[in-house]
Amino acid sequence: MLSNHFQNGIETAKLAWSRLPNTEDGEGDEVVGVSRKNDGGRVESLDYEVVENHAYREEQAQRGKLYVGYYVGVKWFFALLIGVGTGLAAVFINISVENFAGWKFSLTFSVIQKSYVAGFLLYILINLVLVFSSAFIITNFAPAAAGSGIPEIKGYLNGVDTHGILLFRTLIGKIFGSIGSVGGGLALGKEGPLVHTGACIASLLGQVTCGCAAGVAAAFRAPVGGVLFALEEVTSWWRSQLMWRVFFTSAIVAVVVRTAMGWCKSGKCGHFGSGGFIIWDISGGQEDYSFEELLPMAFIGVIGGLLGALFNQLTRYITYWRRNYLHKKGNRFKIIEVCLISVITSVISFGLPLFRKCSPCPEADPSFPIECPRPPGMYGNYVNFYCGKDKEYNDLATIFFNTQDDAIRNLFSAKTIHEYSAQSLLTFLVMFYTLAVVTFGTAVPAGQFVPGIMIGSTYGRLVGMFVVSFYKKLNIEEGTYALLGAASFLGGSMRMTVSLCVIMVEITNNLKLLPLIMLVLLISKAVGDAFNEGLYEEQARLRGIPLLESRPKYEMRKMQAKEACGNQKVVYFPRVIKVADVVSSLKSNNHNGFPVIDHTRSGETLVIGLVLRSHLLVLLQSKVDFQHSPLPCDTGGGSLPIRHNFSEFVKPASSKGISIHDIHLGPDDLEMYIDLAPFVNRSPYIVPEDMSLTKVYNLFRQLGLRHIFVVPRASRVIGMITRKDLLIEETEDPATVELQSTSV
Ligand code: ATP
Ligand code: MG
Repeated sequence: MLSNHFQNGIETAKLAWSRLPNTEDGEGDEVVGVSRKNDGGRVESLDYEVVENHAYREEQAQRGKLYVGYYVGVKWFFALLIGVGTGLAAVFINISVENFAGWKFSLTFSVIQKSYVAGFLLYILINLVLVFSSAFIITNFAPAAAGSGIPEIKGYLNGVDTHGILLFRTLIGKIFGSIGSVGGGLALGKEGPLVHTGACIASLLGQVTCGCAAGVAAAFRAPVGGVLFALEEVTSWWRSQLMWRVFFTSAIVAVVVRTAMGWCKSGKCGHFGSGGFIIWDISGGQEDYSFEELLPMAFIGVIGGLLGALFNQLTRYITYWRRNYLHKKGNRFKIIEVCLISVITSVISFGLPLFRKCSPCPEADPSFPIECPRPPGMYGNYVNFYCGKDKEYNDLATIFFNTQDDAIRNLFSAKTIHEYSAQSLLTFLVMFYTLAVVTFGTAVPAGQFVPGIMIGSTYGRLVGMFVVSFYKKLNIEEGTYALLGAASFLGGSMRMTVSLCVIMVEITNNLKLLPLIMLVLLISKAVGDAFNEGLYEEQARLRGIPLLESRPKYEMRKMQAKEACGNQKVVYFPRVIKVADVVSSLKSNNHNGFPVIDHTRSGETLVIGLVLRSHLLVLLQSKVDFQHSPLPCDTGGGSLPIRHNFSEFVKPASSKGISIHDIHLGPDDLEMYIDLAPFVNRSPYIVPEDMSLTKVYNLFRQLGLRHIFVVPRASRVIGMITRKDLLIEETEDPATVELQSTSV
């Protein structure tokens, strides 16, 4: 049956169940032990494994070729819906953010003309209201929507369910929360939250991986980058069939976003015009590079690695402190904290440019016209701010007192040089870096891509300035260095390579810089790796998400499976059990899987399979399988009754589901019995007690398992399977056909 036992991270946990066949192969051995430290039940794993039993097989056998076609068609249709949904969500967020920000800046600029103080207060107030609304939504309505959500989604696709992460309310909270936090001018971005938004939409349709890719594709308008991001960063299992569907979803997103933007161009979307959506077209920039430039470019890579690793380390300390002290005090403190940060951010971004002198507008290249400054009341390139004269601009305000997308466009801008003084760039770098570190982990939706790009492009441009003055004769653009700086910081912090590289190329539309981006990414990742883990891994660990890395630890080679089990006694159930015993057992522990044992006529004990807590809870709640007699329900040769259908047992992704404490049974019910045989997974994974832990790890990780039985050595072998036995031709046997269909 090979690898179809798990859903490869693309489907919501699917709990299949059904009746037990009467024949038993007698191979079940006594269970030795499955026990270790308990995490208190906070994080639970996902059941990716198909609970394979008699009815599952029966149902599979009944499905003909038509069903296979239908199944595949539905999956592709869902992929289409995910693309459309995520694209529309991204457009909505962008239009809202651009309109709030545009309205904020135009209002502030018009008030500035009359009074600086009034403009200043107004700016602080508008930001505060937006940020407060975001924090309010998060703390009171959708706590799981805080942060970027990428570590949690990564965990989800690794097999760990963080409560609430994919619920509908989280989706709503994420969308409206990020409009407030980004529109409110905090040092964070909307791109990470868009990945989470895509995943939430996709989870409603059972294909989370497609949603992650769609999120990136929508955020950066980078469809290929989206596919690679899903492959490199978030998923733990990947197959070529999944690649096609993810690619399809990303392509749909690209079409939806482009269509929406085309529609908005005619001014129908308020302040949302050609800007807003990320695409910093720097195709007018540096076309070529010389050998001498490689050294400063490598230097940018090193700075990126160092600053990225420092960012991860600082955010780790602060997040730790926040979680253990500040956020424990309650929602009020979370809101006060983020409001305070909003005020500080506003004061810095408004106040610091006041200390800078105005500069005359640079000579515009006719092929690259720059309006400098834009008419009063508008924002965009070259912010006039308080400069009295029309043809002047304030360089610090141009990057600080602006929307992030426009600031980045300004930093990447080519064709003109020395628009920014080193002093302004340095001031911005220090301030923005500090703000980004402090803002990370507050109770608002927050992405790190755009802050990372801003930080990176600032020091990149600084290095570029020195290179320009050093190699006077070469045709060097500061904007190119800014782009490399952005790539280096993201590489140094997030430690992605291929996907980041493609995203950077897609958003800047400049393929010629590909080798340079590759160079800085490799260097920055290598430097960063020397210090700590990537941002998402660090954050996942802090949030208590036990990610299983792709490789087992070296020490596991010397350990055996039984050593991994503690000394705790295995909690198991007999095949026919009193309802009262099930209830008391479920109340006394937090385990989610239990071996079920039976006895043969000769008195021998058999392990007949594994029963899940969630299935038991459904049985207890519905009561339809309760029986008066303690005898198995098929005694006398009758077949086992099926009184439930599949859907009753499917728990919505990342919801808590029902708990044993929610179920109330009367004294009569408790005296009844229940035969578990129809509900057990007849073929759980079993390993011999002396198997090396490395092998167990690989089995567990590669198949996406949740429970493995550890048993004594088998007493006999009834057959041998080799490659040839698994090469089954596609015949008229529908079961075989279906086997292949599940992987599509
Ligand atoms: P997960 O937490 O991954 O969703 P689970 O909830 O079934 O799976 P836990 O109960 O949280 O597993 O596991 C905690 C510890 O309890 C582990 O060390 C495991 O070996 C042990 N354990 C799990 N199930 C049983 C059981 N039926 N009997 C005894 N020990 C168990
Ligand atoms: Mg558990």
